Amino acid sequence: MHRFFVDPSCIENGHVSFTGGAAHQISRVLRARPGEQVVVLDDTGWKYLVRLDTVAVDEVRGSIEDRTPVSGEPRVPVTLYQALLKSDSFEFVLQKGTELGVSTFVPVQSSRSVARAASSSTDGTRAVRWRRIIQEAAEQSNRGRLPTLSPPVPFRAAIESAAGLAVIPWEREAGTGLKAVLDEYVDSAAGISIYTGPEGGFTADEVEQAHSSGIVPVTLGKRILRAETAAIATVSAVMYELGELG
Ligand code: SAH
Repeated sequence: MHRFFVDPSCIENGHVSFTGGAAHQISRVLRARPGEQVVVLDDTGWKYLVRLDTVAVDEVRGSIEDRTPVSGEPRVPVTLYQALLKSDSFEFVLQKGTELGVSTFVPVQSSRSVARAASSSTDGTRAVRWRRIIQEAAEQSNRGRLPTLSPPVPFRAAIESAAGLAVIPWEREAGTGLKAVLDEYVDSAAGISIYTGPEGGFTADEVEQAHSSGIVPVTLGKRILRAETAAIATVSAVMYELGELG
């Protein structure tokens, strides 16, 4: 069944009024008919079974038939601090990270990021696009909450906000492996933070700064992964360890 996130203000007295992208999707793309059911998520922890009453170009409305708490969320929040990448790689990380259950994405301006934190005007457009990718992936993957997307932050600010267990995959780390660190992990509400680098990697100085802030440099094994592969492999390993991959 198709799933849509809507603003909570669209839900009133047992009815849902769809606006914007969701209305367009239902009436034009899916060409849904009155009587069909869809699932609506309000990003506050509820999921609604909705039967469509009106499907017109200018109005899409439905009635709520059932309401249940959402279940697609990981037990422990995982934050992905991802160094800015070329746009298609960065978008790949947002999409796959959302499917896997990342709670918060923080784009990071690191010294070797080829992609720069854009000027505020282009940043606005880029953020809208990034949010749409996250929302579509969240709808598709049955997430109950939309992952948060932070504005891009400088590397220093990113490491200062580390919470819970924090790891920084580094291809030059020889001793500590991701597995060893995750094996020691005990659940905490602060969750897990992952810092993955840009195409050119982190500088030794950045890794040193992160280490002094309590972020553990880890190896992901003998092979050098592309930045986007490293991000998704690390998120997958963390989710597996948390029992979130079944
Ligand atoms: N250009 C660098 C590799 C950068 S890989 C080089 O050729 O040496 C991009 C990012 O992926 C890194 O910053 C790191 O966070 C992660 N990464 C890739 N392979 C890794 C590995 N084997 N161990 C730990 N981190 C890795």
